[in-house]
Amino acid sequence: MRIDIHPHETLPRHAKEVLLGQKGSVLWFCGLSGSGKSTIAAAVEQVLHDKGRFCVRLDGDNLRTGLNGNLGFSDDDRLENIRRTAELAKILASNGVIVLCSLITPRGAFRDLARGILENDFAEIYVKADYATCEARDPKGLYAKANEGNVKNFTGRDSAFEEPQDPELVLDTEALSVDDAAFEVLEYLRSEGIAL
Ligand code: ADP
Repeated sequence: MRIDIHPHETLPRHAKEVLLGQKGSVLWFCGLSGSGKSTIAAAVEQVLHDKGRFCVRLDGDNLRTGLNGNLGFSDDDRLENIRRTAELAKILASNGVIVLCSLITPRGAFRDLARGILENDFAEIYVKADYATCEARDPKGLYAKANEGNVKNFTGRDSAFEEPQDPELVLDTEALSVDDAAFEVLEYLRSEGIAL
């Protein structure tokens, strides 16, 4: 830490967690564009919200309209995108919030960076669907654009998606429905004592 910076004390994390009736934590959904990260995170958020739990979603696409709006898709910019998102998620989790991050996070080194920042609060959720499946879904029309050569550094096409080696959870969205995938996430939260 810089010697000229003196962070202030905040209320203890535990006090926030007691207030909210949950444990702060970060679920980091990674996978190809169109694999289902945002769809599943939204389904999980809805169930938790209905049960009175407090979540914040940090979605890669949304963050690129504001906080990360000055970043592109080079490796350096993706790394900074992940660093900022992880640091924001850390602040939220340390205030008792369940944070649902949805970012492609295509490289092991990027996920290691997020895990290093978030430490025990971090759970890596691999939302798995192959390129052909995501291309057929193409919810944002990005695969069609990429095939025309109109998207730079498109993951799975121009740059690799490195499969997670040891994620906390794998959701195979070629086999699971959205509801079943969300149920698995909720079971994980229950088993870890994060939220009922
Ligand atoms: P990502 O956030 O990974 O880029 P999105 O959630 O935006 O992906 O889009 C995934 C698309 O795939 C949506 O149109 C969704 O309806 C569809 N889809 C089909 N089956 C599934 C599934 N089992 N889980 C998640 N999404 C699915």
